[in-house]
Parts: sequence; structure tokens; C-alpha cells
Amino acid sequence: MNQNWQIEVTKRLFLMLGACIGIGLLTGKTILVLLIGCGLYLLWTLKNVIELIRWLETAASSSDPVDPPNGHGLWGEIFDASYRLMRKQERARDRLKAVINRFQESTSALRDAVVLTNDQGQIEWWNPAAEHILGLRNPDDAGQVITNLIRHPRFLKYFENKAYQDPLLLPSPVSTEKKLLVSITLYGPENRLLVARDNTRVFQLEQMTKDFVANVSHELRTPLTVISGYVETLLDTLELMLTAPPPVLSKALNQMQSQSDRMANIIEDLLILSKLETADSLQDLVPVSIFDLLHDVAADARTFSGDRSHSIEVSCKAETAILGNEKELRSAISNLVFNAVKYTPDNGNIKLKWVVELNTGYLSIKDNGIGIDPQHIPRLTERFYRIDKSRHASTGGSGLGLSIVKHVLLRHDATLLIKSRPGRGSSFTCHFPQSRLVVKEAA
Ligand code: ADP
Repeated sequence: MNQNWQIEVTKRLFLMLGACIGIGLLTGKTILVLLIGCGLYLLWTLKNVIELIRWLETAASSSDPVDPPNGHGLWGEIFDASYRLMRKQERARDRLKAVINRFQESTSALRDAVVLTNDQGQIEWWNPAAEHILGLRNPDDAGQVITNLIRHPRFLKYFENKAYQDPLLLPSPVSTEKKLLVSITLYGPENRLLVARDNTRVFQLEQMTKDFVANVSHELRTPLTVISGYVETLLDTLELMLTAPPPVLSKALNQMQSQSDRMANIIEDLLILSKLETADSLQDLVPVSIFDLLHDVAADARTFSGDRSHSIEVSCKAETAILGNEKELRSAISNLVFNAVKYTPDNGNIKLKWVVELNTGYLSIKDNGIGIDPQHIPRLTERFYRIDKSRHASTGGSGLGLSIVKHVLLRHDATLLIKSRPGRGSSFTCHFPQSRLVVKEAA
């Protein structure tokens, strides 16, 4: 661009005014000549404005670049600058188009369904795989709210809660036989990128593993009951014998009895776990009195502690019940409290506490026992996770207790927080959301 165009324009304006004044002075009609000069200048400007508008209109309706009109002085500069700006925007648009095309080509080649929704949850774009995985129809479903098309209640909750850290397993809207793993990423102001993968094969394999474990556990129950029965009978017979039996025999029988008891515990826990994993979400919820539950479990734990004389206290500061399943909650709390007894030395302290703060219910079981090294805490709720094998052998644990706790809490929309310091003790706190709390009615 000519850097001195302002000087040029000013110069020309003064020249024109000077000429008008000169002619005016010569003719003696300065005002008239000035008026005519300004009028002509106005007409010239008007002509250029009209040309500019026409050019912009033609350029807007044409896909090819349109040359600017010829202009002089200031108008020439305006036409050139506008033309350069137009070309720059065209190049940027072409670059953007190429990027979008590349993105669409690569997502079209994907076997996973990809769907983009706007801040209202309306579908803006999807790839071809979304048509056979999610059953979207082109072009009818463009602009539809996605929760009207994927109507599963779990999807609706997942979509609205915006807690997308973990993916969601869903039956496919096209066929209930198919299982989808859906994950959502938020971007921009509430826009969402949804990716759905066909997870049927993995789901079937997991299902087969669960069925296998449940069947094996079930099948082992009967032979084990027979073995335990015979061991018990043999032990009773030894006591009735007139001559003292060889010490090795009674030692072996006692060990057989304790190991078969342990095995029976493992089988029972495996069966409970597989029931929890395969059961539908909780139906027929009832308000479970935490006050009664904690006192019952504490009484059982005192019996379990026996001569080890643990002090087991209950503090229940809220008149709130939990909406859920009494049997499952009892099993989870018992596991936590019995663990506290198992892993706290004799005469140790165990505290069971229930409080409601800021609409969340906190049920905690604290002990001053042997504690847990922090590195083990994230894996404690895995099936058969062992801190060290000797602990299992000495306590007779199945390694499934905390797994059961995790599943029960999951079915009650609750989470487990574990804090512990080796040698100082542990606390296991269950967090129950407001939706699970019911205020007890006054008697
Ligand atoms: P187990 O049947 O072995 O007790 P769990 O799943 O209930 O299995 O617990 C897993 C492991 O977590 C236990 O083996 C134990 O090492 C550790 N643990 C659980 N509760 C406590 C506790 N209160 N104090 C110390 N360690 C604990």
C-alpha cells in the first residue's frame, strides 16, 4: 500500500479547492465555482461507493475471485486494500476447509462412532460408523437432541451429570445384544464429543469369566461340606477314643478343619460377589436405620473379638437413614468392622461413626491397628489383592471383603475413601450422596 496516500489525498483536495478558488476569483463567482467543485467531488465519491457495493455483492455471490473496479486516489487504495483482504480470507478459508476435510476423512475411516453435539445437546455432526453403531439416520437426525435418540436412563444420567472420567457401558440402541462403551469429552462452552465403541466381545468374555467363577464356587460347595462333615466326625471320634491318638493325626485333622473353613469362607464371598456383579440395579429401596445397623454390627464384632478385648464404640450423630438394601449394607459394614478387629492388636480401639454434613452421609470405621502402606491403598478393593500373604494365612481372610464393600457401595451410589498409616491405624469412610439419605420421621 502506498504509505503516503493520506498526503496524496490531502494534496489533491487542496489542489481542487485551490483551482476552484482560482477560477472563482477569475470569474468573480468564487462561491458558485466552489459549490460546483464540491458537487462534482460528491458525485465522483457516490459513483465509487456504488461501484464498491456492486463489486462486494458480486464477490459475495461468486465462488471465484472477482477483480476490483478501477479507481483512482483514495478509492483506488480502498479497492486494492479490500481485494487483498478478500484474498487473504479466501486462503484462510481454503486452509480451514482442507483441515476439516482431513478430519472428516480420518473420522470416517474410524470403526468407533463419533458424534459432536452443541451446548444444547443437539447433534451437529457424526461419522458413518455412528449410523450402524448408534442407529443415527442422515439427514433426519441432524439437530436432534441426542438423549431423544439414545434413550437409556443410564445414558441420560451420564450425559447430564458431566462426570466423564470413566466410560459408560450401555446396550446398543440398535440391538440389546450389543454392548457399547461410551465416553464423552467436553470442549468449548458445553459442546461434547461422544465416542462409542462396540464392546460386545469384551463384555461376553467378562460375562463368561463371572459365570465360570460363580459355577465353580457353586459346584465346590457340596464336596467341601462333605469333607468338613467327615473331618468334624473324625475329630469327635478322636475325642471319644480310649487310647490317645498319635499327635500328628489330631494336628492334621485340626488343620484340615481350619483350612476347609477358610475355603468355605472364600466360596461364600465369591458367591456374594458374583451375585452383586450380575444383579440388576437395586429395586425396592427401603430406608435402612444406620443407628440400628451400627449397633448390631458392633455387637457381632465384640463377640468376634472375644478374648482379644477390643474397645468397639458407636457414635451416631444423625437421625438419617440410608435408602438401600439392608442385607447388602450390613454385609459391607460387617466386612469393614471385622477387618478392623482382625488387623488391630488386642485391646485396640475401633470407632464406628455416622454423620451427615453438607448433604453427604459419612459412615466411617476407624481403628488404631497395624495400618496399611500407602502404596497398597489404591489396589485394596481388587479381588484377592494381598498386602502380604502371611496376613491372609494368620487372619483367615478371603481377600474378597473389600471387593464386596466396593460393589455394595457402587450399588448405593456411594464411594469409599481409605486413609491409613502403617503402625498408626486406618479409617475406611463411605460417602453416601444426598439422593440416598432419608430423614427419619419422628416417632
Ligand atoms: P481379607 O479377607 O484378607 O481381610 P479384604 O479384602 O477384606 O481381605 O482386605 C484386603 C486387605 O486389606 C487385607 O488383607 C488387609 O491386608 C488389608 N486391610 C483391610 N482392612 C484393614 C484394616 N482395618 N487395617 C489394616 N489392613 C487392612
